[in-house]
Amino acid sequence: MSYQIDSASADHTLSKQKNTLYPPLPVCAECKGRCCASLGCSLSPEDLQRALGTDTYDRESVLALLQNSNFAIDSFGYQGKRFYFLRMKHKCFTFIGVDAMGECIALTETGCSFSYEERPKGGRYLEAREDRQCVQHYTREDMVTDWMPYQPVLASIWDEYYQKFLSDGTFDTCEENYMNYQRAKHSV
Ligand code: SF4
Ligand code: SF4
Repeated sequence: MSYQIDSASADHTLSKQKNTLYPPLPVCAECKGRCCASLGCSLSPEDLQRALGTDTYDRESVLALLQNSNFAIDSFGYQGKRFYFLRMKHKCFTFIGVDAMGECIALTETGCSFSYEERPKGGRYLEAREDRQCVQHYTREDMVTDWMPYQPVLASIWDEYYQKFLSDGTFDTCEENYMNYQRAKHSV
């Protein structure tokens, strides 16, 4: 079954703050992306739409995108259940985001490999502050509104591949690779 991406819903945070942009500040260069070194930023459905190149989606197209992109499914607790959304994948990990913390796959030694405009909404809506008390304006509340229609597809992919990666040792390998990556990075 194919579904329509709801641009009105996808853009609701834009209309709420339509003239507000949060480009990086000079302090971001000094900080070297502390935000991006601990968690990949969240996507919105408009980012999904941009990545798919179409305003329709189904389970197969979202799964194919996840298997061939730098995106992962993650979740948080909402009304007693898991609530799924997409974020940037972490280095060494898969598109099933069991890794609560990790370095964004797009983070380089010189910062984000995307231009400001290309970044997912969670990256575009992070307000950098000189005192490094930076503020995320793409809130959980916004994400619940945006991602609600996508829950059946995301939950279905998560359920299938979480079990698969758990039983075939993929998650263990990812953990090991990430530890090796961090050790190598800190030994330089
Ligand atoms: S947004 Fe904040 S945490 Fe992220 S790089 Fe800039 S100063 Fe550092
Ligand atoms: S996509 Fe860019 S801005 Fe977003 S977490 Fe990754 S490195 Fe940071």
